[in-house]
Amino acid sequence: MISLKMLIKNTFIVTMDQEKGNIEKGYIYIEDEKIREVGIGEYNEEVKGIKVINGEGYCAMPGLINCHTHASMTLLRGYGEGLPLMKWLNEKIWPMERKFEEKHIKIGTGIACIEMLRSGTTTLNDMYFMMPEVMKGMENFNMRAMLGTTIIGQNWEKQLSDAIDLKEIVKKKNNRGLLTTSFAPHSPYSLSFEALREVAQAAKQYKENIHIHVSETTDELDIVKQKYNMTPVELMVKTGIADNKVTAAHCVHLNNKDIKIIKEKDISVIYNPQSNMKLASGTPRIIEMLDENINVCLGTDGTSSNNNLNMFEEMETGVMLQNLFYKDATRISSEKMLKIATINGAKALGLEKLGVLKEGYFADIIMINLNKPNLIPCHDIYSNIVFSANGSEVEYVIINGKIVMDNGEFVDIDEERILYESNKFFKESI
Ligand SMILES: [Zn+2]
Repeated sequence: MISLKMLIKNTFIVTMDQEKGNIEKGYIYIEDEKIREVGIGEYNEEVKGIKVINGEGYCAMPGLINCHTHASMTLLRGYGEGLPLMKWLNEKIWPMERKFEEKHIKIGTGIACIEMLRSGTTTLNDMYFMMPEVMKGMENFNMRAMLGTTIIGQNWEKQLSDAIDLKEIVKKKNNRGLLTTSFAPHSPYSLSFEALREVAQAAKQYKENIHIHVSETTDELDIVKQKYNMTPVELMVKTGIADNKVTAAHCVHLNNKDIKIIKEKDISVIYNPQSNMKLASGTPRIIEMLDENINVCLGTDGTSSNNNLNMFEEMETGVMLQNLFYKDATRISSEKMLKIATINGAKALGLEKLGVLKEGYFADIIMINLNKPNLIPCHDIYSNIVFSANGSEVEYVIINGKIVMDNGEFVDIDEERILYESNKFFKESI
């Protein structure tokens, strides 16, 4: 159902707007893709003939922004568990990825979309192969996404040209402006100097984001050090990658100079706590980066290293890991973490007017049911959202002013059929 005008009434609102803060009982009026009004108390205008959601007992908040994922990797969820990282990649993940055909990518993406929407993610920053198939997998889900074709290894020229072609494909198919593209060089260690330089130039030419893995493991640092006698961050500067708008996933092993460069170049750091813990990569110095006013956002990474796409879990783990690392439970509040998962994500992706519930902003809204045992009582809404909720409380999802999930049910998506067919497909073809 497409609703051009919509009203959410009688609801608790976490606006993430500094001026308005939280509204105990209020309304959100939506017209087309934008929020027209966020107010306290009752909405007094005529509401005849428009979709009205009674938000009593719910909390409306901005949709979560997953800034680093590989959606179709749902296909590899739980595959080859328990192996050391390089053995796992070389013997399990990469050989299986080479077998993937278009149909695999499409189905894997569909499952990812259902999982993300059910746990409150409305925007994703995706990096993977066969992006036109990812787009097909995303059809009907109405998600907001930045799509980047992975550029890695020897075949980078072809992949770079695919990345440029993707821009035209997205432009033609674009679903009400929901899709954008980026350039996604895999990492400083997995591409030649020339390849990194060419990608940097292309991104500059097309004025697009670069989405890249940076300083994830100590192995990566050793490879770059041996080859260039510099850090991966320094290599990003040398190749011109850092002269673009960059979202850098992981940033686990940074020295002080790297952090200074990241600040100077205004690079957004994507924190992926569960992936870093699961793969035993290490702990990024997030609190110090926040102290430096570096834009830190949040991502799940792919499901083979997480093993889900649940941003509620990620927010909780994100705070806990920093508390443990700094042995200090006071440095990163749950409100700050929610900001990282919303406003900072929007900023990282250059998506203005997103991540806050405010007049003139895009209507990307989720509503969580507060009448759940794990959310009672509510002394502190931010604490409940970050530490107590698990994503299953999400019962309404609105993206770009369109209702995608209504009272726990998908509107245009046959969820049961997709889950059944995907399960059957995975059993038969993997
Ligand atoms: Zn990744």
